[in-house]
Amino acid sequence: MPELPEVEALTRFLTTRVSGRRVERCELGAIAALKTFDPPLASLVGREARSVTRRGKYLCMDLDGEWLVMHLARGGWVKWKDKLPADTLRPSRSPLALRMGLAGGSGFDVTEMGTEKRLALWVVADPEEVEGLATLGVDPLDPSFDTDTLARLLADASGNVKTVLAAQSIIAGIGNAYSDEILHVARLSPFKPARNLERDEVDRLHGAVVGVLGEAVARAVGQEASELKGNKKRSMRVHGRTGESCPECGDVIREVSFATKSLQYCATCQTGGKPLADRRLSKLLR
Ligand SMILES: [Zn+2]
Repeated sequence: MPELPEVEALTRFLTTRVSGRRVERCELGAIAALKTFDPPLASLVGREARSVTRRGKYLCMDLDGEWLVMHLARGGWVKWKDKLPADTLRPSRSPLALRMGLAGGSGFDVTEMGTEKRLALWVVADPEEVEGLATLGVDPLDPSFDTDTLARLLADASGNVKTVLAAQSIIAGIGNAYSDEILHVARLSPFKPARNLERDEVDRLHGAVVGVLGEAVARAVGQEASELKGNKKRSMRVHGRTGESCPECGDVIREVSFATKSLQYCATCQTGGKPLADRRLSKLLR
């Protein structure tokens, strides 16, 4: 699932390839992915791409005053093609959601793998018209995101620190994978109530947010879009590594499962050596 670092890298990747180029074709494969109907998708054809920017996990493409906003959700991706297939994309159940072709024959496909179809596209006059984007919280890579800001956000939030880190309306761009990584670096239990963090814990958490995301962006930027996914997986310390050894202490990495996803952590590094109860299991046993 692309999170802030991958979307940031995709943004910069697309910026270098589309800026100043004219859109020659724009075709929809997944009807349900397009959330707006006016202006129509076809109105993007003939326009010149001015810039590509990121807001949280949203990709925003400025096409001469009209915007294509994309949210890649869990299984979405952008695939760049130096030579786009000539055949017109037709609505189907294939993973192809959108195809945009640029003057000169190159372009990109937006795809979504998996059965859960959550990828979303909007054509708008202003990205702020997209509801989830307009309500985004602070960007953790913005220089204004300091320890005091984080302390204030945590103090005002209900829920555990894992949930708060991944809440887009509080901090924009962090999802399930990077929140696991951040909490491991900060040596914090994912289930600790956010508002109960001591000042030194907030300090550690702030350092971990900025450090983990900053390193991930530095690693991701400059990579081809096709390399980003695999490299993200390989760079993870605990996320997706259930049963492997913690890179810090060698303890086994444990997992807590939820309905559709799971979190990973190290008990020695994060919970004083005490394994967390598997919530799904606890529920079944109750
Ligand atoms: Zn450990």
